[in-house]
Amino acid sequence: MINYHPDQHLLSLHAKGELPLSMSIAISAHAELCPHCQQQLDQVTIALSEQQFESAVKTQSVDTNNNQLDALLEQLLNSTLDTLEVEQASTVDPIEDNSVSIKGQHYPLPKVFRKQINASWQGIGKVSRLRLDTGEPQARASLLHIAANGEIPEHTHKGAELTLLLAGEFSDCYNTYKPGDFMLLDKDHQHSPKTLEGCLCYTIVDAPLYFTKGFSKLLNPIGDLLY
Ligand SMILES: [Zn+2]
Repeated sequence: MINYHPDQHLLSLHAKGELPLSMSIAISAHAELCPHCQQQLDQVTIALSEQQFESAVKTQSVDTNNNQLDALLEQLLNSTLDTLEVEQASTVDPIEDNSVSIKGQHYPLPKVFRKQINASWQGIGKVSRLRLDTGEPQARASLLHIAANGEIPEHTHKGAELTLLLAGEFSDCYNTYKPGDFMLLDKDHQHSPKTLEGCLCYTIVDAPLYFTKGFSKLLNPIGDLLY
């Protein structure tokens, strides 16, 4: 069962299309794993489109030009059709196009990653990273794989760090996490995630990480790799 969800504010920003791509990917992927948040998103989306429709209708004078209304309806229809086409296109694609293999493990990915996977894995030890290009100079988005019995050295970071667990499990000093769990940590948190069975995560960090234990020089290459 998923215990950690994006908050209402994030969901509604996502529905409005106001989030940066890296965070939008996280919300979409979470919603694919979480029926509860998917339902919330659907409700927000419907409410938003009703609002937009109403305000568009209200701004028209009483002698509404039918052409305007037609144009509006057509616009709405087209945008719905666009969405449908995207959905259809994504269902006909072979499933292999939307999965990753690392160290003999095969992971199907949420659909939202379809267009994002165009790099290859880099790794040190049990930790592998596949960087996603979201076109944001500051936020760094990656798929992160930690092999069984692996851990990430304790670290802290300058900005927020988002982790969405996609498969497997990991735990830190706060909790044990399950696929779909959506964890947003601010810079005051420190943690060193460990995994027994291995895991695949989607992560975003917006600032370099600083390792807090004494072996930072040794581990900096891992820090660079991961984040
Ligand atoms: Zn959720």
